[in-house]
Amino acid sequence: GAVRAGLYTDADQVAILTPDTVDSVLFGSPTATLLEFYATWCGHCVAFSPAWKKLALDIKEWKLAVHLAAIDCANENNREVCIRFGITGYPSLRFFPAFSSNDFTGENIRGFSRDVTGLRHLIIDKLESHKNPAPPACPPLETTSTQEIDSYLKESREHNHNLAVVFEEDNSYVGREVILDMLQYVNIMVRRVLRSEEELVNRLNVTEFPSVYVYNKQSNFTRLPVLRDARAFYSYALQRLPGVVREGKPYPEVTDFVRNQTEEQWIPFNKTRVYMSDLESALHYSLRVEVASHTVIKGEALTALKDYISVLDKYFPGRPPVKNALKAVNNWLKEQKETSILYSEFSAALNTRTTDSYLPEVVRWVGCQGSKKQYRGYPCSMWTLFHTLIIQAAEAGSKDPQEVLQAMRHYVGSFFGCRPCADHFEAMAQENMDHVTTHTVAVLWLWSRHNRVNARLAGELSEDPHFPKVQWPPPDLCPSCHTLKSNGDHAWVQNKTLAFLRNYYSAQHLSNDFLS
Ligand code: FAD
Repeated sequence: GAVRAGLYTDADQVAILTPDTVDSVLFGSPTATLLEFYATWCGHCVAFSPAWKKLALDIKEWKLAVHLAAIDCANENNREVCIRFGITGYPSLRFFPAFSSNDFTGENIRGFSRDVTGLRHLIIDKLESHKNPAPPACPPLETTSTQEIDSYLKESREHNHNLAVVFEEDNSYVGREVILDMLQYVNIMVRRVLRSEEELVNRLNVTEFPSVYVYNKQSNFTRLPVLRDARAFYSYALQRLPGVVREGKPYPEVTDFVRNQTEEQWIPFNKTRVYMSDLESALHYSLRVEVASHTVIKGEALTALKDYISVLDKYFPGRPPVKNALKAVNNWLKEQKETSILYSEFSAALNTRTTDSYLPEVVRWVGCQGSKKQYRGYPCSMWTLFHTLIIQAAEAGSKDPQEVLQAMRHYVGSFFGCRPCADHFEAMAQENMDHVTTHTVAVLWLWSRHNRVNARLAGELSEDPHFPKVQWPPPDLCPSCHTLKSNGDHAWVQNKTLAFLRNYYSAQHLSNDFLS
């Protein structure tokens, strides 16, 4: 599973400190740190840890300027560190500004909020009052003025940059949150203006606070269209403006999309659809390539293969010949009473082809195409396949709500070529897959775990710059799935999300375009 240290794992966006790393993280660093000293046995720390993890995820885009860390004082190895910092109670929070010197023991934060919003505001206050030198990656957080905007506009006539201006009330944190959310993105600058800056407010006829206006050469100032006026929707929309990209990732030229002559051409596709071509390609790759790496299949792997094929036979919403081929191979597998089979025997059963029973031998990614060869493709299609299967099982009212999840867990555990992925998935399954007692919970379990993986992978090198990892479905795909809590934070509307998934992954909604 994921590397675990006390209450946190390396899958959380929290830096887990050890005696070897503590100095380099806290001292002389260009990044500020908010560090939690805790003890695993302390009940308050256990109760606080979900908020700390959630906060870390919530502000992961701010990481170059400020990040969260934790150290477990209950671990013998860390005891000297905790003594050196004079820690006597848990949890304790200490703030270490950027470029702290190595005799500093951190600013003790007393009476800190236990919720994500309060802690996020605390961090912003710390960044704003940060003494010089501030973290170099931290953009200006103070309000801007008419003068500054005008001088920017003068210069920007030359550039193709975007300027986003958040208009807000005096006590609002939205502007600063969005500024920090955009810190790793280029070709965009975000500034904030208070309602009291009348000249600008009147010039743009701003009547709603908060609201965001975007300026670029083509459109001048226009209001940013969003589902709801809140941080989550602003940041999502700004990160997706044309030309706005995460730094360090060169934006692929449009010509990258049209691959060279010897390779397949880019196929334009519809993001609101699931493509049968991806599902059939997943089957082909998994059954003819991935499983083929096991010459002899026995024990747990044999059970995993049998369960996988059984679930495919029952629920794969395929074309008739594909369904027939899956039935045939399932029947063949059920007849095998030995404790092991050879892949060659399995393959012979799989590849017995008649006019009305066959599994196409082709890989053609459509919804799972990547902008380059190394991106997307097979893993994308496996998620798509299992979301589709779980929806079909729910529709069919299968007796066991865990049937598809367990088949996925065991297939991934025995065969999925990405071994760290398999370990992470198994860790999530062990955590609470046994709580799944209804089809609704099963569908939502897979959706929310997939989103957890998306959150962890956002910004990693494996991310296709054309398909950034988002919490899915994003507002443009399902507006009603999203709402706001009373404190302005984003929240999912679960029944709408469930309804969306039921439709998106339904058999009726599958697209048969691009099939060979
Ligand atoms: P994917 O994440 O593959 O998603 C495919 C499609 O599913 C998306 O295009 C979207 O249409 C839809 N979708 C996205 N999110 C959801 C959701 N929450 N619910 C329903 N549908 C959704 N890679 C790693 O680097 N580390 C890992 O630990 C890791 N674990 C993995 C575990 C499993 C079981 C699998 C199948 C893959 C794993 N991967 C992991 C690969 C990674 O998750 C992606 O599949 C890969 O990076 C390709 O990403 P993608 O952008 O094509 O979208």
